[in-house]
Amino acid sequence: MRNLFPAIAHNVTVPSHILVIEDEPGIVDFLHRGLRAQGYEVSSALDGDHGLAKALGEEVSLVVLDMLLPGRSGLEVLETLHDAKPTLPVIVLTALGEVEHRVAGLDAGAVDYLAKPFSLAELCARIRAQLRAAAQVPSTDLRAGDVEVNLLTREVYRAGELIRLSTTEFELLVYLMRNSGRVLSREQILRAVWGYEYDPGTNVVDVYVGYLRRKLRGAGQDDPNGPRAEAPIVTVRSVGYRFNAST
Ligand code: CA
Repeated sequence: MRNLFPAIAHNVTVPSHILVIEDEPGIVDFLHRGLRAQGYEVSSALDGDHGLAKALGEEVSLVVLDMLLPGRSGLEVLETLHDAKPTLPVIVLTALGEVEHRVAGLDAGAVDYLAKPFSLAELCARIRAQLRAAAQVPSTDLRAGDVEVNLLTREVYRAGELIRLSTTEFELLVYLMRNSGRVLSREQILRAVWGYEYDPGTNVVDVYVGYLRRKLRGAGQDDPNGPRAEAPIVTVRSVGYRFNAST
């Protein structure tokens, strides 16, 4: 018999399973008790190898990941996890001042950060936000002009031709495309793609826009000997860049 009330069937709540990968037993214990009290199912691992195995092998809704771990580092766990389960939300725990971890983690695909020491209320707020976002039907395709991005497989096409990008080039392209038609300052791009604490005097944005342009230029055109199709990223003099979807 056909279910006349499918919405009701979907309302049955299964507790979200949170995996904590952290080597400090005190914090693990604190998170176990605190998150269980919030109605979550919690499991934990005390090092990177066990954590990765659990994250890959179990039905996990969200991972809370410490960066400094014995064995496989948090960053390695993050990178492997991001390749295997790109939609799994990961909240990274960093000690105060570990800016390089934050930047590297962002590159590797972490969705959020929390600096130690943190409060349980703060962590729970972040977890709720990430689970809410993950529950929404993901829009997996991003399209602007003749450039198409699959956010799930992280494949990029221009006029149907596959373009291989590094992680940072990919994040930069996605940010530019999400703001297609808008002028973005170097500082805005730096903050969004590299993180807040990055040295504002760096020319890393220009360098990566250069890489991206080189890869996008001429891709997908029928005649390889014809004039090269320009990359759709326009320099806005003395301000920054704009993704131009109509190029
Ligand atoms: Ca640690």
